[in-house]
Amino acid sequence: MILSHDGLPPLRDVIANHGLSARKSLGQNFLLDLNLTSKIARRAGDLSQCDVLEVGPGPGGLTRALLMEGARKVVAIERDERCLPALAEISAAYPDRLTVLEGDALEINPMQHLNAPIRVVANLPYNVGTELLVRWLTPSDWPPFWQSLTLMFQKEVAQRIVAEPGSKAYGRLSILAQWRTEAKLAFELPPQAFTPPPKVISAVVHLERLETPRFPANAKDLSRTVSLAFGQRRKMLRASLKSLGSDIEERIRAADIDPTTRAEQVSIEEFCRLSRVLFPE
Ligand code: SAM
Repeated sequence: MILSHDGLPPLRDVIANHGLSARKSLGQNFLLDLNLTSKIARRAGDLSQCDVLEVGPGPGGLTRALLMEGARKVVAIERDERCLPALAEISAAYPDRLTVLEGDALEINPMQHLNAPIRVVANLPYNVGTELLVRWLTPSDWPPFWQSLTLMFQKEVAQRIVAEPGSKAYGRLSILAQWRTEAKLAFELPPQAFTPPPKVISAVVHLERLETPRFPANAKDLSRTVSLAFGQRRKMLRASLKSLGSDIEERIRAADIDPTTRAEQVSIEEFCRLSRVLFPE
């Protein structure tokens, strides 16, 4: 049998041997090229002194790359129990360096298995990815448990994460991400990189946490302010925030912002100031 350079079978064989036909309901589009998964692992930074939290390892292409790139330990959460035997083979090849937790990443708390510094790396279904990203970005205390997030998204979502004020993609994700991290679009992947190929182009983003957020604000209040403001992104702030009270124009002015401005023109600094005025401690 021909083996890959990590001494394990090629991913195509792993999938065939374990009957891992991709399930659409679990957003399964697998990366089978270890050169590509290594590229993602390397983008996460120097892993040698880090534990890595991986979400959705599937047959283990990215998991193997993370271990090959020297991660001290990988903790992987996978929902599809069909993948567990394939992941157990990787655990056996890297004794004590891979822990697999079976279940839904939105429910499981992996913290008891992880030691700082921790980097998060994931190729997840996009809906789960966005939900987790927002959770990872909005804990009440900062800095968070993780040092960096290296995540695959649909290209349009990746563009929203790194978008600047005034652009069409600028919105809630841009503000929540850039308020507390240095967010970069790393590279794109065409549909053919995946098996089966999805309908969309994908992109990897890398977010490195800032030790303190760029501007003071309470995460919950900022998130609420931004969600309301972009709920009707074509409207002026005084209209989109109207539900907060009849004196909303004065309060927006108190934050030194023109109430006729539209959300996409408001900078992160201004949104932080606005949330402090709208929701005083
Ligand atoms: N990381 C693998 C790769 O790059 O080839 C698989 C990527 S595939 C896009 C997404 C993986 O996430 C699948 O293995 C799927 O079963 C798993 N998954 C989907 N929803 C999940 C959830 N809520 N929690 C944990 N894993 C999930």
